[in-house]
Amino acid sequence: MNQIKGIAAATGISVGIAYKVGKEEFIVPRQEIGDQDIPIQIQLFEEALIKTRREIIELQKRISAEMGQEEAQIFDAHLLVLEDRMLIEEVISRLKKDKLNVAFIFQEVLKKYVSVFSNIEDEYLKERIADINDVGKRILRNLLGKERKGLGDLKERVIVVAHDLSPSDTAAMHKKNVAGFITDIGGKTSHTAIMAKSLEIPAVVGAEDATVKINQGDMLIVDGTLGIVIVNPDEETLESYRSEELKLRGVTEKFLSAKDLPAITLDGNQIEINANIEFPDEVPAVKLHGGEGIGLYRTEFFYMNRKDLPTEEDHYQAYKYVAEEMNPYPVIIRTLDLGGDKFLSQFEVPHEMHPFLGWRAIRFCLARPDIFKLQLRAILRASVHGNLKLMYPMISGVEELRQANKILEEAKGELKAKDMPFDEDVQVGAMIEVPSAAMTADILAKEVDFFSIGSNDLIQYALAVDRANEKVAYLYEPTHPAVLRLIKHIIDAAHNADINVGMCGEMAGEPGLALILLGLGLDEFSMPPQVIPELKYLIRSITLKEAQEIANEALEFSTGSEVEEFAQAKLRGILK
Ligand code: PEP
Ligand code: MG
Repeated sequence: MNQIKGIAAATGISVGIAYKVGKEEFIVPRQEIGDQDIPIQIQLFEEALIKTRREIIELQKRISAEMGQEEAQIFDAHLLVLEDRMLIEEVISRLKKDKLNVAFIFQEVLKKYVSVFSNIEDEYLKERIADINDVGKRILRNLLGKERKGLGDLKERVIVVAHDLSPSDTAAMHKKNVAGFITDIGGKTSHTAIMAKSLEIPAVVGAEDATVKINQGDMLIVDGTLGIVIVNPDEETLESYRSEELKLRGVTEKFLSAKDLPAITLDGNQIEINANIEFPDEVPAVKLHGGEGIGLYRTEFFYMNRKDLPTEEDHYQAYKYVAEEMNPYPVIIRTLDLGGDKFLSQFEVPHEMHPFLGWRAIRFCLARPDIFKLQLRAILRASVHGNLKLMYPMISGVEELRQANKILEEAKGELKAKDMPFDEDVQVGAMIEVPSAAMTADILAKEVDFFSIGSNDLIQYALAVDRANEKVAYLYEPTHPAVLRLIKHIIDAAHNADINVGMCGEMAGEPGLALILLGLGLDEFSMPPQVIPELKYLIRSITLKEAQEIANEALEFSTGSEVEEFAQAKLRGILK
């Protein structure tokens, strides 16, 4: 039995078998063949191509059913590679000439193709390398009679162990049989971790050398609450985790009793409890957990796992669906937040030394008004189908806000010119996630209808701690006095200007911290859907006055750990 400590990324416990996802390396033997073997080798090659084609079509069908037509189309390019006459003919002619086994020849031809494409100064062709590599590996695998289950092909419930999982990888796991996952790198608020929460998959990230310590097929316990992974547990440990899991369920049931009730404090103050989503198909989960609206719709995920850019119509249909489904509850659409740890293949974003401080979010959108305005028009058009609001990410000063609003006005003008209906009074908010925005909240408040505090980023920028870097994760403290003071400052500025202020960072869904935020006067909390019942239960168990006392006391501490300890003790007292 071995224990690995990582960072708790998505709560819950799961027990299962390790499935390691790594770089796939093949050892392809080089074998000489005789003339009489040539037809057999050609037949092997043809069979491998047919099998690969069947696999891809199968995969496309499943992705189309589970995620949508567009995602499935990514694999069209893979099918094209399979039909590439030049590639096929080169393999066959070299096979005849060199008289070597087909797997070896194919690997050589594949390498040549990849190097030719890598040297071409054409972005589109360069992009094709990934396709060629992907299909090439599939063909090789079939030639060698090897099996590989991709994340999308999992047939049994496993625990995925990987060095890293990109948000697109995680998107591919959507609805798949992943009981839990562990990554060597990553922090609590990396997008992979956030998505694990939405998918309700217990996850431990930043587990350093987990991929070295864990072998394929090991029995694992992932404790996503404590951030612990137990490798090959003994019977006693397994038993205790199983009962722990049951206890967790019991607690959840208590919270579920509050899920469809309003979040009203014992002294009658109603708080808005919303959900964060990345995909429209999470809306049923939001309703199921008693969400009263969407406080953050991260639209950049719409751009992922696809080759082309979404059209205005694509955006419009997605937003219309969410607006209609949630109506009359509000839906806050966050405009494209590209950059940081979210890179989209469609955009040529240059490599940056510090992507979180670079060409990100609203900065990118203001530089690319074509892309930005298209999204704004779609949001405006969808606004007639429900209670839509929009907000801009990563505003750092009032000029950016004015520029964004100017483009919004242009979008409105264009729709008017075409007689397209939209809600003239659609509410516009600013995310407050940069310290400069927090400190000028009074100035910004005059130009928007609401604020939403993006605590994930606010913490990283205030404390100079990269949110995705496990080495400095110990410094990432939502309870740091500097963070609490900034939040208080933002809330007070919003209320002085008579606008509402919410929070959509992970902090809003942490029960102990939510007590403090409630006391500081936060009007709206937005969080992963599955935390909603607990938050509602909590708010219904306390008076605003008590929460204010907790917040005032929390502001007196000198360190984040003291605040954390204090908040947890208060929480235990309330939930006992
Ligand atoms: C945040 O920064 O708190 C936030 C909600 O935005 P994201 O996590 O998508 O950066
Ligand atoms: Mg953010």
